Amino acid sequence: MKTNLVIRLVTVVAIALALFILPQLWDFSGLPIVVIAAVLVLTFFLVRWHANHTGYQCLECRHTFAIGPITDFLSPHLSGVKMLRCPQCGASSWCEEIERSQVRQGPAAIDKFETAPVQKSGSLTVQIVFVLIIYTGLWVYTFWAWPGAAAGVSYWTVLKIPLVTFILPVLQLTFCLYALRHGYRSRIYLFVSLFVIVFLLLAIWMQRTILMQL
Ligand SMILES: [Zn+2]
Repeated sequence: MKTNLVIRLVTVVAIALALFILPQLWDFSGLPIVVIAAVLVLTFFLVRWHANHTGYQCLECRHTFAIGPITDFLSPHLSGVKMLRCPQCGASSWCEEIERSQVRQGPAAIDKFETAPVQKSGSLTVQIVFVLIIYTGLWVYTFWAWPGAAAGVSYWTVLKIPLVTFILPVLQLTFCLYALRHGYRSRIYLFVSLFVIVFLLLAIWMQRTILMQL
């Protein structure tokens, strides 16, 4: 089932549109925020639907279980498998997606936040720090290049890119902290972080273009 992948693609495309195209069309517009809010609401319902209709089997101990929407959203998903922490044996691994009716332990969904085993992942920490540094750089650049005397320049014009892109470090931080907490290890995080980094660098470049024109 590739619903999750479709959800993510739709989310990414919609956010990209909201972030980079719409602000160019309207100088003052809360539209990007409305679009992002709509995408978040849609994502919430799709993820909840997905969580309610699927189950998973741990390939380490064969335990079958259901998960809640929060776990569903925050855990990486590939075709037919999902990175999850098994509620029975505690192993974090790619679990096989199964029909909800095949879950033997009853339909109760799990959104547990149990303490993960102490497992250091320097890579995830480095990724978090990198994204935070670049996002901070966007704000530093904005205040450094703030058009001082230019009259009639609205705060929104200057601040729209730093404010709207706030969602990227927040999402990346949420996914990475969840992974650290649950002992998830996957290259997917590196790809997500790289995507966020490229997007933020693009945002800095766009911010530079906007501020130079003022
Ligand atoms: Zn297990």
